[in-house]
Amino acid sequence: MSNFLPNELIKRLSEEAHFNQVSFLETHEAGEKVTSIRVNPMKDTHRMFDGLSAVPWCDDAYYLAERPVFTLDPLYHAGCYYVQEASSMFLGHIVEQLGLRNGDVKALDLCAAPGGKSTLLNSYLGARSLLVSNEVIKSRAGILLDNLGRWGMDNVVITNNDPSAFGRLPGYFNLMVVDAPCSGSGMFRKDPGAIDEWSLANVKLCSDRQKRILAESVSALATGGYLIYSTCSYSREENENIVDWIIAEYGFDSVQIGINAAWGIEETQSSVAHGFGYRFYPDKVKGEGFFVAVLRKRAEQASFELRRTKPEKTPVSKAVLEQWLDNTDTIQHFLHGDQVHIFPTMFSHDFKLLQDMLYIRNAGTNIGKWLGKELIPGHDLAMSIHVKADLPAQEVSLATAQQYLRKEQLDRSDFDASTGWCLVRYSGVNLGWVKVLPNRINNYYPKESRIVHL
Ligand code: SAM
Repeated sequence: MSNFLPNELIKRLSEEAHFNQVSFLETHEAGEKVTSIRVNPMKDTHRMFDGLSAVPWCDDAYYLAERPVFTLDPLYHAGCYYVQEASSMFLGHIVEQLGLRNGDVKALDLCAAPGGKSTLLNSYLGARSLLVSNEVIKSRAGILLDNLGRWGMDNVVITNNDPSAFGRLPGYFNLMVVDAPCSGSGMFRKDPGAIDEWSLANVKLCSDRQKRILAESVSALATGGYLIYSTCSYSREENENIVDWIIAEYGFDSVQIGINAAWGIEETQSSVAHGFGYRFYPDKVKGEGFFVAVLRKRAEQASFELRRTKPEKTPVSKAVLEQWLDNTDTIQHFLHGDQVHIFPTMFSHDFKLLQDMLYIRNAGTNIGKWLGKELIPGHDLAMSIHVKADLPAQEVSLATAQQYLRKEQLDRSDFDASTGWCLVRYSGVNLGWVKVLPNRINNYYPKESRIVHL
């Protein structure tokens, strides 16, 4: 079989005990496209995915027989599911194994855009946890905002900081996920264009950057806290060698994760400290190339006391909030300019701290614009799991839903409601707002999110 993958990569991979060169190359040559999605457990659309084949290491996750045009599916835009590469969903299994599922966790997803791991963490960690989802590259933070907005939970803070900024929060988190930028060999089957860009020099560059990212941020993890480190690279320099380096430099222990042999995942060990790692090869698992390791901080980490703060008073009354939201008892709100945000009351002190220390792109759910006496509902309110269930709403056909998502003019006769704000619903799921006027419908779907092609 001809080898169209980088020789240096194959030569090095051949030194791995479990590597099967023939089947690895065959799989890349065949170029099968594997499509998988993870369903949002808070959006009650599970029934629509019945009968699909399940991703074995993650709940609510399925393989699709073929890749649909997701852009045309209203449920995609409503945050009912996230299109995510199956191997990376192993994070769900790790969270479960560590006993953190639905726990009281303060989690940092350090390299978060576009938001695959963050939406997974948000679902698995549940409502009693706080997720700080960070992306250093400003232009990539927008997509993270969109994806977490659609996901609908309010216990998330999105930040746009360099990893070094997290050094200001010593011992604050009990879980850190570092899904590091890497040389990307694990994506060669999906994106053959990346093959030509691979070089040993780039692997070295990535490895140095991975160390820098970790060195600058790892003090934010508390003693006993877990670090989940992952890449989509096959190179030891970016995987097991990083595990060795963390163990040696920062006082971490390796954590072994139980796996089912039928899944085809390879357990490896780093060469010095014998730290465990989990390798995903596309000829052995139904997914792309991936590496992940779990480490626990043993070292004493200096920490700090969370300062108690008083919530700021705002002119937005509880009555206004109750007009739009269910269960306002567990929610606090704040004003950012004229934008009203909701956030879990249990994390109000954390919010102040994060506000002081980081550059926040979004905190909680932006429910809309405050006009002095009334609220203009925002798109994220329509996506929110807290939006009041009995607000005026109109179920629409697929064609009308797509028209709405293109931000086109809608037909007044498709709407039964009398005048006022109205949720557009497809298959029982909210897509966004319209304002119903006596003779017309004003379409409030966000301009920047509208479907532009087709
Ligand atoms: N975790 C994401 C997900 O599951 O959707 C994918 C993350 S991707 C593998 C790596 C991310 O690291 C990218 O969003 C990239 O912008 C970011 N990144 C690039 N350089 C970085 C740096 N020096 N420090 C921190 N993050 C960086």
